Amino acid sequence: MKIILVTGASRGIGREIAKQLALKGHKVIANYNKSEEKAMELQKENQNIDIYKADVSKREEVKKMVQDIIKKYGKIDVLINNAGIDKWQLFTDITDEDWEEMISNNLNSAFYMSQEVVKDMISRKQGSIINISSIWGITGASCEVAYSVTKAAMDGLTKSLAKELAPSGIRVNSIAPGAIMTDMNKNLTNEEIEEVNEQIPLGKFGKPEDIAKCVNWLIEDEYTTGQVISPNGGWVI
Ligand code: NAP
Repeated sequence: MKIILVTGASRGIGREIAKQLALKGHKVIANYNKSEEKAMELQKENQNIDIYKADVSKREEVKKMVQDIIKKYGKIDVLINNAGIDKWQLFTDITDEDWEEMISNNLNSAFYMSQEVVKDMISRKQGSIINISSIWGITGASCEVAYSVTKAAMDGLTKSLAKELAPSGIRVNSIAPGAIMTDMNKNLTNEEIEEVNEQIPLGKFGKPEDIAKCVNWLIEDEYTTGQVISPNGGWVI
C-alpha cells in the first residue's frame, strides 16, 4: 500500500487515476481546486480516497498541502502531476495573461509540487513522480501553442529530474496521452470527433481508464525512469 497524491483529481483523467489506485488498495489523496462537489462524491465512493483542496498553481497552497499530507500520512510515495488546463486560440490572439495562466497551471504547478515533495523523498531515498504531459508536447499542436509549450517543458522536467534524482532512488516519468474523452474535449462536435478518430490508427479516442492503467504499471515498475510514454492509439509512432 502506497501513499499517492494525485493533483487535479476531481474530474477526468485524474479522477479515474485516483479511483483505480484506490481500488488497488493504495491510500490516495485526491487534490482538487474548483470542483468541490465532485471531489466530495469521489471521497464518498471509496474509503481509500481522501480529498484536499489546493490551487496547485500557487506555491504557498502547494507547500501547505504537502506539509499537511506528510504530517497526516507520514510520507508521499508517489506524486502524480495531472492538474492542467487547455485553451484553443490562434497564436496571435494569446495575451500575456493567457500565457501566464497556462504556464502557472500546467508547468509551475509541476515545478512547485515536485520541489515540495522530493525533499521528503530524497531523505527516504525512494519515490516516484509521474507527470501527465500530452502528445502535443511531443509533436506541437496548431492553435494550442501555449499548451504544447507547457507539455514539452514538462517532458524536459521529467528527463532532467530523472537524471538528478536517480542516485536518490527516485524515478520520474511522463505519460503523454493522445486524445482522451473528458471535459477537456467537450466542445468538439460529433463531426470533429469523427475526423480525429479517422486519424488514429486504433480508430477511437482513449478513455481515462487507459491512462490510469499506464499509471498503475509505472507505479509497480522499478526500472523505468526519464521516459515519455504515450498511450495514443498509434496517433504518433
Ligand atoms: P479535465 O477533465 O478538464 O480535468 C482537469 C482537472 O485539473 C480537474 O480536476 C481540475 O480541478 C484540475 N485542475 C486544473 N487546474 C488546477 C489547479 N490550478 N489546481 C488544482 N487542480 C486543477 O482534464 P483532463 O482531460 O482530465 O486532463 C487531465 C490532464 O491530462 C491535464 O494535464 C491534461 O493536459 C492532460 N491531457 C489530457 C488529454 C485529453 O485529451 N483529455 C490529452 C493529453 C493530456 P477542478 O475542476 O477542481 O478545479
